[in-house]
Amino acid sequence: MNNKKIVASLKDVSKVYKTGDTTIIALDNTTVDIYSHELTLIMGPSGSGKTTLLSILGSVVYPSSGEVLINNENISAYSENKLAAIRLQKIGFVFQQFNLLQPLTALENVLQPLILSKMDRVNASKLAKSTLEKVNIADKMHTLPRKLSGGQKQRVAIARALVTDPPILLCDEPTASLDSKSASFVMEELRLLANEGKAVVVVTHDLRLRKYADRIMYVEEGKLSDNLKNEEDYK
Ligand code: ADP
Ligand code: MG
Repeated sequence: MNNKKIVASLKDVSKVYKTGDTTIIALDNTTVDIYSHELTLIMGPSGSGKTTLLSILGSVVYPSSGEVLINNENISAYSENKLAAIRLQKIGFVFQQFNLLQPLTALENVLQPLILSKMDRVNASKLAKSTLEKVNIADKMHTLPRKLSGGQKQRVAIARALVTDPPILLCDEPTASLDSKSASFVMEELRLLANEGKAVVVVTHDLRLRKYADRIMYVEEGKLSDNLKNEEDYK
């Protein structure tokens, strides 16, 4: 077998938002382990807590209670600076709206994390190009995002997430802005990365993506479970 190991865990994690006199439990006492070599799909209807869960796993949002472990390191009490370093080394993010910097070419977008990591220009450029090749979009390296299709933009975004070779890739509705053909290309790309050893976590409300997953969980009203309770909620 391929040496699956736990790369991230949440232990009894809750996230509570208080706005005025309303309290929202966005994530309710959640415990989960995320493994390398797996594409983990976390399904849930809109508002169920998917982005909250992913943001806590990605150390972008602090939990209200509970612990977050990344590569066996308990990061729950880390400072903002230390978390930024963890994010840069360990985690790649992919978003529904791609979040590419519009004035920069595909290549320049992929270079950004390497510039932040202070890699020298020559090596950074080589690495960014080979990463664009890996996701089959190197022919567009000098193109601006607005001249790319949705599927092409998402490939550039995946290259940007991958270029620092993080063990964990967190994808928030990565196919929600794509036509079904581009969506399958993107999911197949993510599938390959999981086969190569990355821990790929995809959150989505699209039940059709289940065929790409090694493991499927459902989040409903902030609660994570192994079972789909009500398929109607996903329509
Ligand atoms: P999903 O990604 O599944 O649509 P979210 O994780 O974005 O769900 O949101 C879960 C719940 O938490 C929703 O009720 C949402 O309105 C609430 N929520 C999320 N972020 C915030 C925030 N920053 N402030 C207040 N409420 C929030
Ligand atoms: Mg969301």
